[in-house]
Amino acid sequence: MNGKEGAKNKMSVLRGVRIRTLSLWIVAGTILVSILIGDGIINVMNQHKELAHMTQEYLLIKDNVTNMSRGSDYLTEQARLYAITKDYSYAEAYFQEVNVIQRRDKALQEIEKHLQGRDKSALQHSKEALELSNELMDLEIHSMKLAALSAGETMDSFPPQIRDYPLPEAEIQYTPQEQSDAASRLVFGEEYRLMKQRIDEKLTSVTQSVTSICELEQASSEAAMQNALKRQSIYTILVVLLVIFSYIMIAVLILRPIRIYVNCIKNNNFLEITGAYEFKYLAVTYNNVYEMTMAQRDILRHKAEYDALTGLLNRQSFEQLKERLRNSSSTIALLLIDIDVFKSINDTYGHEMGDKALINAANILKESFRKADYVLRIGGDEFAVVMEKVQPGKPEIISGKIDKINWILQHPQGDLPKYSISAGIAFSDKGYNDKLFRQADQALYQTKENGRCGYTFYQP
Ligand code: GH3
Ligand code: MG
Repeated sequence: MNGKEGAKNKMSVLRGVRIRTLSLWIVAGTILVSILIGDGIINVMNQHKELAHMTQEYLLIKDNVTNMSRGSDYLTEQARLYAITKDYSYAEAYFQEVNVIQRRDKALQEIEKHLQGRDKSALQHSKEALELSNELMDLEIHSMKLAALSAGETMDSFPPQIRDYPLPEAEIQYTPQEQSDAASRLVFGEEYRLMKQRIDEKLTSVTQSVTSICELEQASSEAAMQNALKRQSIYTILVVLLVIFSYIMIAVLILRPIRIYVNCIKNNNFLEITGAYEFKYLAVTYNNVYEMTMAQRDILRHKAEYDALTGLLNRQSFEQLKERLRNSSSTIALLLIDIDVFKSINDTYGHEMGDKALINAANILKESFRKADYVLRIGGDEFAVVMEKVQPGKPEIISGKIDKINWILQHPQGDLPKYSISAGIAFSDKGYNDKLFRQADQALYQTKENGRCGYTFYQP
């Protein structure tokens, strides 16, 4: 499986809440709660409007009950005044009220209008009150006719209700004083008083009935408003919960992963796969790219530091090593090694065999020294070995190794020809310096001069 396929596979198993889905849910939740709150507000407003309207209607009905009562009382007053004074203006005012002003009839119409069919018994009582008041009018007109006769009026100017009122024959025969007394009795008598009382009772029951209905409706309206307010409180709590939920989601799915990712990038680490789906996707993508970059960097670094043919550290690494060891305080041994008459191997056996001989020499060198020692290829057939913390008093350790290497090279396996190396060795008490290289080079030159296949320790 290559890197791309691996990445694809990681993507396909990714699970997590998507920011887009989350934000859609949050927006939907906000819209829903807003609609509920708006609906609740409209509901409360309607309840309030309804209550105000009902109170208004109730007051209007009460006003009209009062009007009806006043209209009836006005007729009583005018009839009584006429019976006592025989002043025509009172009779005139009486019929003005009955025929033109019509306070009682209009009041009944208004009561019927404002009840809107809500309270049938109140309407019935209102009608009965008007009927009783009309019945009372019979006594009043009777009284006014007797009073007019007692005053010797001709009746021509009187309205037909009085003029045409049929008096019993006996009353026509009364003396004026008797007629006047009878007129007063009719509107001040017990029968009259009882009927007035019944009208009052009817009108009082209208007011009571309307009041109780209004109170009931007020109570139900109040309960509805309280319910609406309770719902509003719940919606408000929902809004608060929605805000808290949104913040937690943003913190967990967005803010936390950003913080973690920044830290990972600062610390040169892979990204943790966390947070919303989009962040996980980004993290996996980043990790794949990061992994590939790291691998490529390792390859480039290896190429820059190692020799492609032998796998040993190369010349550039030798330069870096020298720089690093300049500040070292430990003892150092530098071995410069060169293959003897290598040109003739190339010339005799071919370049490929030359390469093989180089690889073979590199492997033997690597195996012959400690893990901590640096074995490098610094030129065509030139090698260097840098040993730290060596004991200059024991050169036989190094010379033994060179002898052993040459013995191996002189007893080759397979098709490799016999060949050998020459080495020049110099020591430093404290780190690397340029003099050390010159000394090792001089020693190597000495070995070559002495017939090759051996070593020379630098002697001042
Ligand atoms: P001496 O004993 O004096 O060192 O003699 P020499 O023939 O080894 O002389 P020198 O060290 O100057 O020659 C090195 C030769 O190594 C020259 C070059 O053709 C050969 N050479 C350099 N790099 C490579 C390589 O990568 N592969 C092969 N096959 N030969 C190489
Ligand atoms: Mg050589």
